[in-house]
Amino acid sequence: MPKHDFDLITIGGGSGGVRATRLAATYGARAAVVEEYRMGGTCVIRGCIPKKIFVYASRYAEDFEDAANFGWHIPHHDFKWQTLLANKDKEIARLEAAYTKNLQAAGAETFADRAVLRDPHTVHLLKSDRTLTAETVLIATGGRPWIPDSVDGGDLAITSNEAFHLEELPRTVMVVGGGYIAVEFAGIFVGLGSKTILVHHGDEILRGFDREVRSQMHHELQKRGIQVLIKSAVASIKPRDGRKCVRMTDGTEHLVDEIMFAVGRRPNTAGLGLEHCGVEMTERRAIKVDDTGRSSQANIYAVGDVTDRVNLTPVAIREGAAFAETLYNKKPTIVDHTNIPTAVFGTPEIGVVGLTEDTARQMFGNVDVYRTAFRPLRSTVSGRDTQVFMKLVVDAATDRVLGCHIIGEAAAEMIQCVAIAVKMKATKADFDATVALHPSAAEELVLLKTKVKA
Ligand SMILES: Cc1cc2nc3c(=O)[nH]c(=O)nc-3n(C[C@H](O)[C@H](O)[C@H](O)COP(=O)(O)OP(=O)(O)OC[C@H]3O[C@@H](n4cnc5c(N)ncnc54)[C@H](O)[C@@H]3O)c2cc1C
Repeated sequence: MPKHDFDLITIGGGSGGVRATRLAATYGARAAVVEEYRMGGTCVIRGCIPKKIFVYASRYAEDFEDAANFGWHIPHHDFKWQTLLANKDKEIARLEAAYTKNLQAAGAETFADRAVLRDPHTVHLLKSDRTLTAETVLIATGGRPWIPDSVDGGDLAITSNEAFHLEELPRTVMVVGGGYIAVEFAGIFVGLGSKTILVHHGDEILRGFDREVRSQMHHELQKRGIQVLIKSAVASIKPRDGRKCVRMTDGTEHLVDEIMFAVGRRPNTAGLGLEHCGVEMTERRAIKVDDTGRSSQANIYAVGDVTDRVNLTPVAIREGAAFAETLYNKKPTIVDHTNIPTAVFGTPEIGVVGLTEDTARQMFGNVDVYRTAFRPLRSTVSGRDTQVFMKLVVDAATDRVLGCHIIGEAAAEMIQCVAIAVKMKATKADFDATVALHPSAAEELVLLKTKVKA
């Protein structure tokens, strides 16, 4: 008779939790996952997937305009928000069902409930008032958006969670934040036809990205019609004539239909009972884990955004898989968090892998920089005022490519492939030795000849 109901109980059915539980069950563990909202988690239900569907939708208006110089006459087009929402919801329901089905097919049990830890081995399901025990508990509860308390009337604002379910597309919208989610939503709203203001308290958007990428993207957003306000913060929000009057800390006011905060995400650890289980947390209340995902309590592990390391879906999935390989397949696996490619699905798109120029200089001292900015062929014909920007950061001593930064159409697709080369420690000479694929924007990556002066 086993000591516990399960070998593994995972709290959170998102990217990391589902992968970990499914693999563990495949390897023979008696595994269960508890999910309080919808199986699939942030990425599938209210993150990457619905966001990317919105991004696709937001690009058609410009495509219709651009088509004219290619000979197309498109006399009439209009946009129906409800159609987009319905088709987005349909796709998400399909994915959600697939996640549940795959878990169950692997032999894992699923519980639709909120889980709270009673002690390191005991999980209480709040809705059904059931208690389950497990040898190992995996916390994969992700993160959540937040609205700063300092904003008077903050309850009138929405976050990305609600933005996916708005009854109507706002005519005027303010997006607060300078990170990738804020930039992406500003691009979505403006592309769909909303008058859009992007507000960021720092001195430039996209903190953590390469300095030149940040300023170039700022410029591109403005060219697309987004009003970008930097060094700017919201003081209060008040209802006015069915709309929202946003007062800034400098006293200026904006009347908008919707205001969305995207000012970072917080680890989902509140009310989980972690404190009385001996699980240590960081100042931001993320779970502290070692390289294997183990917390300060030996039988409790954590993966994904709740550990606040690299908060991206493929990373959560890797961490979940590494956990299952280590514990249930006798294959100790540690996730390498370096050179993870990432994208900002704005319009234009950003794709990045490796170090920024500034970080490379701090770490390696002598670095060479290669850069190009050009108008892509499609735009020279369509007449659209947009530029492709590319930058390679190279270690001068070894010729190794340390970072690659791209802004432009399909930058995310390009950077995924460049990331293989960077991960393999490719040198600039390797890039140069690669024959260009013509005509493409990506060919410029292997044709960069002139070093930019430091
Ligand atoms: C708008 C947006 C866009 C994004 N775009 C991208 C992108 O383009 N690319 C990318 O890589 N990443 C993107 N991300 C980030 C990505 O979604 C996360 O990094 C990823 O989902 C993290 O996975 P996770 O398993 O750690 O947690 P999550 O996917 O957040 O899953 C956690 C789950 O735990 C559940 N839960 C929480 N507490 C409990 C409890 N007590 N009991 C039961 N269940 C509980 C939650 O309901 C949730 O379903 C985006 C995020 C957002 C918000």
